Amino acid sequence: MDNKKIYVIGHKSPDTDSVVSAIAYAEYLRGVGYDADPAVAGQINPETKFVLKKFGYHAPQILENAAGLALALVDHNEQSQMVDGGDQARIIEVIDHHKINFQWNEPIIFMSQPLGSTATIVSQRLLVADDFKMTTNLAGMLLSAILSDTVVFKSPTCTPIDRQVAKRLATIVGITDLLAFGIEVKKQKSSINGLTAAQVIHSDFKEFEAGALKFAIGQIEVVDLAEADARRSELLAELDSEIKTAGYAFAILMATDIINEGSQLLAAGDIAVVEKAFNVKLENGSIYIKGMMSRKKDALPPLMEVLK
Ligand code: MN
Ligand code: MN
Repeated sequence: MDNKKIYVIGHKSPDTDSVVSAIAYAEYLRGVGYDADPAVAGQINPETKFVLKKFGYHAPQILENAAGLALALVDHNEQSQMVDGGDQARIIEVIDHHKINFQWNEPIIFMSQPLGSTATIVSQRLLVADDFKMTTNLAGMLLSAILSDTVVFKSPTCTPIDRQVAKRLATIVGITDLLAFGIEVKKQKSSINGLTAAQVIHSDFKEFEAGALKFAIGQIEVVDLAEADARRSELLAELDSEIKTAGYAFAILMATDIINEGSQLLAAGDIAVVEKAFNVKLENGSIYIKGMMSRKKDALPPLMEVLK
């Protein structure tokens, strides 16, 4: 790393994990003497707003284009999820917990751990750093991000390490009921009332590549599937229009019920791939799959397997 400012930034459609990890890691870099700022690759969601406000932080600046800048990526590594101009930026570091689809023609620091959140990886590092003091507010933010990304420890991506790190952070913040606090965080963006179909789909939307083929999976986490059910045809029409605009083979919206632990899938485009991957028959473009919680761990691997 040289003296140039480092922008620490998460993926497009920023979630709490990517925003909080960027803020925390930038704070750490500044603490040890680098010139670093957190940034985001889009508008932050209501859940993240709630967490920032609760712990006294401002939203990081939005980077419209990162061409020519020095970047540390958190919570993603795939080109398709990067801030615009990411392909013309200088990426000096990656901290992530997703599958790796990354190539770079210079030596970089690449830290990947299959844990429940990037915030867990960042917390582990900050908690042991001699030259960094974890404040109560930063611990509260990191705890919120772990609870958010692991769906309050219910996601199959959650590991004993996430629980242990969350407990250590909770002790610093003075939060004793982790489940109640986790649900309070998750409830902040669980309603889709007042959002357009496009806003619902883009609230947490990721593109993937399998060879020359592109597809996309959006996910919403709800405490009740009724709102999404009532708007099924509207949401399917929006998925169709995404497919036409972006040239996806198919597009999926996972409406994940975090209380009952399952997902209603809405799929458009080449749904034969979806049916084969999950061994189901869609009815009117939709199917409920019990136990499906994680895009990364439950939805993506079977799709990638069928597309091999
Ligand atoms: Mn994320
Ligand atoms: Mn994450």
